[in-house]
Amino acid sequence: MEIQAMTAFEIKKGIEEGKFTSEEIVKMLFERIKEVDPKVEVYITLCEEEAIRSAKLVDEKVRKGEKLGKFAGVPIAIKDNICTDGLKTTCASKILEDFIPPYDATVIKRLKEEDAVIIGKVNMDEFAMGSSTENSAFMKTKNPWDLQRVPGGSSGGSAAVVAAGMAPVSLGSDTGGSIRQPAAFCGVVGLKPTYGVVSRFGLVAFASSLDQIGPLGKTVEDCAMLLEVIAGEDKMDSTSAKEKYDTDYLSALDGSVKGLKVGVPKEFFGKGLNEEIKASMESVIEKLREMGAIVEEISMPITEEGLSSYYIISSAEASSNLDRYDGIRYGFRAEGYESVDDLMTKTRTEGFGKEVKRRIMLGTYALSSGYYDAYYNRAQKLRKEIKREFAETFEKYDLILSPASPVLPFLSGEKSENPMEMYLADIYTVNINLAGVPAISLPCGFSKDGLPIGIQIIGPHFGEKKILKAAYALEQEIKVDTLAIK
Ligand code: GLN
Repeated sequence: MEIQAMTAFEIKKGIEEGKFTSEEIVKMLFERIKEVDPKVEVYITLCEEEAIRSAKLVDEKVRKGEKLGKFAGVPIAIKDNICTDGLKTTCASKILEDFIPPYDATVIKRLKEEDAVIIGKVNMDEFAMGSSTENSAFMKTKNPWDLQRVPGGSSGGSAAVVAAGMAPVSLGSDTGGSIRQPAAFCGVVGLKPTYGVVSRFGLVAFASSLDQIGPLGKTVEDCAMLLEVIAGEDKMDSTSAKEKYDTDYLSALDGSVKGLKVGVPKEFFGKGLNEEIKASMESVIEKLREMGAIVEEISMPITEEGLSSYYIISSAEASSNLDRYDGIRYGFRAEGYESVDDLMTKTRTEGFGKEVKRRIMLGTYALSSGYYDAYYNRAQKLRKEIKREFAETFEKYDLILSPASPVLPFLSGEKSENPMEMYLADIYTVNINLAGVPAISLPCGFSKDGLPIGIQIIGPHFGEKKILKAAYALEQEIKVDTLAIK
């Protein structure tokens, strides 16, 4: 089998069984990257030498018959807002263009402990703000299914890298949909875990009460396997969940949805939803019923208001989190300043892109003493209501089903001058972050023009096993091609 078509699971198995070595896999992958990446433009940084060195260490373990990690020899691409020791981490921003972290994020540490091989860092919207990866300071990643179109965002690089066969799996981050929406746009699987299940230590903060790291891959199985490695309590992250929950995610993949109660909010089928996506959703509902699930229409009226609450809260948190980029402590520093204030102003003016500045201004405004009650407090109240609505729904239903995105992958440049239109691309995903629950985006077919369509399966807090179980069962039934460039 060719490297681009292989799943993480197949690679791991092949290495364990001695069918090939990790070094062979990694070298083949770099060949593939050299051929395909000039077209798709995914990788900001590649670490070929280091990757080959790690692969050789795994092969050494295989030869000696030593115990192998859960991700032994499997290559992985990392979103460029996750800190990697000694390897540039830019957040696709000029302000961090040359930043080399002196430590690993907890997820990276865990991947290394399980013998994974890091291939490089992939493109994103600057500081994870955006839905198209067009806000990167460095390059515009293309959608591998149609190079004229965007891969979604902000983890557009993490989704495109998998769909283009330039890494079997990747890590992304999701604050309001940034794993699930690009996964849908690129026709791959992407999962946002329950808030607190995956450590945020070493993830460059956008909106700390919403951010989660999660897996993207060609299959549900790969995402489950990767989640097993990165999930679990971490003392380095004070918001890491202390509750007891199972992390043996692979064991949930039994192929059955029999008896599962699935709610489909009617509000998610209103105007603004693309007709082909709607039709695709309807056939998935049909399929689930045939497979023995109980699917019912429900109503979640407050959820419709989520977008405004999300953009106030996330921008407020961003305005505070991003104050550390001042040209003094680390990162880019502007030249030719006259005072400390001038240095900070110039650095931030030159270092941040347009969208990041927009969010900082919006957030600062919402938090200012005169407007705090009118905006921030109201957004927080709405967030509470949204949480309550989800909690009540999950008292009656195991899962909630919705589209992952209201629109098909759009043309590059189509929405970049209209932030409101861009924000609407997140209408189905932001509520899940506000509520802190997990959700998976699963490819379920293509439009008549061959563009991928994704559905979203949402679960209750710590319901990862439930959503993986349902997604796996559906995946086995509908079998969608996830490799765009053969
Ligand atoms: N597109 C959303 C935003 O721009 C979500 C981003 C994210 O999840 N990181 O805020």
